[in-house]
Amino acid sequence: MKILVINAGSSSLKYQLIDMEQEQVLAKGLCDRIGLDGKFVHNANGEKLELDHPMPNHAEGIKVVLQYLADEKYGVIRNISEISAVGHRVVNGGEVFVEATLMDEEKINTLESLTEFAPLHNPAAVTGLRACMEVMGRDVPQVTVYDTAFHHEMPRCASIYPIPYEYYEKYGIRRFGAHGTSHGYVAGECAKLLGRDVRDLNIVTCHLGNGSSISAVKGGRCIDTSMGFTPLAGVMMGTRCGDIDPAIAIYLMNKEGLTPDEMNAIMNKKSGVLGVSGRSSDFRDLDAGAAEGDDRCRLALDMFAYQVVKYVGAYSAVLGGMDALVFTAGIGENNPSIRSSVVWPLAHMGMELDESKNQERGGARIISTPDSKIKVCVIPTNEELAIARQTLEVISK
Ligand code: ADP
Repeated sequence: MKILVINAGSSSLKYQLIDMEQEQVLAKGLCDRIGLDGKFVHNANGEKLELDHPMPNHAEGIKVVLQYLADEKYGVIRNISEISAVGHRVVNGGEVFVEATLMDEEKINTLESLTEFAPLHNPAAVTGLRACMEVMGRDVPQVTVYDTAFHHEMPRCASIYPIPYEYYEKYGIRRFGAHGTSHGYVAGECAKLLGRDVRDLNIVTCHLGNGSSISAVKGGRCIDTSMGFTPLAGVMMGTRCGDIDPAIAIYLMNKEGLTPDEMNAIMNKKSGVLGVSGRSSDFRDLDAGAAEGDDRCRLALDMFAYQVVKYVGAYSAVLGGMDALVFTAGIGENNPSIRSSVVWPLAHMGMELDESKNQERGGARIISTPDSKIKVCVIPTNEELAIARQTLEVISK
């Protein structure tokens, strides 16, 4: 069975066609600059095709994808009827869509009404869904998979904010979290790697990329996560401030005469390690800067690791102890020095890093010593595969 996974952004659309028998990626690529000039990238059969292709809207993008998936030369299937279902990534399902869902016109309309929670991403997902229905016909199941779903069942102690309760009732303001598909996937893969049942494990998952979030996973379920009502909360990130005293925003708006939108842009786009270092949001640049003696690059890196350490400690407390710590995403998978700066301060909890394993590259692996009470793992995330698995589960019901 073949499942097409679609991750639609406002002007782009990433896709993967996955054969679920072997969980093998048959083809993947990207439609970029949709609504502008249109660029198409397609990887299949070990070859990469790049072309300029007009894409006035997402439906045209989907048409190009389907055309090349079934292309005689670049294709991997004979006919698009071989695609059994499409799985769509959706950033926020609010309190309405709390699990992967088979969509129909009515549900798409409901999803459309939730755009306020993810103003940049949800409308794109709706556009992608409509485009697939239009181009593929109504008979191909379209399933939505939500980044917020994994966090939905966390206890109210973790999800309700200490502001007047009426704002939760009136506007649904609560902790939604993000990167849920990734946290759920790596927790499951961690259990497999350790040869244990995920239901018996307490795991802290660190998804550290441009956007970073940390989750406490008990028995395979999320009980707390660092991102909040929006993905601005939690640990500091590439350009996002993460948790700060909320009064700072009001103080700065008054001092500098900033509008809410301007303050929002400062906290989302000019803060985090970029704001502190004044140099870059990319941790490779910060590593290089710190090695050259740039004090603010060093400070940004130290602050980031310090904040991750604090979250891991807090989550170990609410989990009642932990069995494993997982690193994933761009930084978690590729930056041994951040991993090292996070794990060593936690040695007192029973975590011991094998520094030579930490320096190695590779797939899912354990980087703690055999004696380490808490296992430290690096697990490459694979949100597309997780979406395909959940899509398969929904259509098999
Ligand atoms: P996003 O949240 O946009 O998906 P990523 O998960 O790709 O971001 O994370 C981006 C961060 O990961 C950057 O700070 C970068 O330094 C780091 N990163 C990504 N790939 C590598 C790599 N191959 N080697 C070292 N660092 C990497």
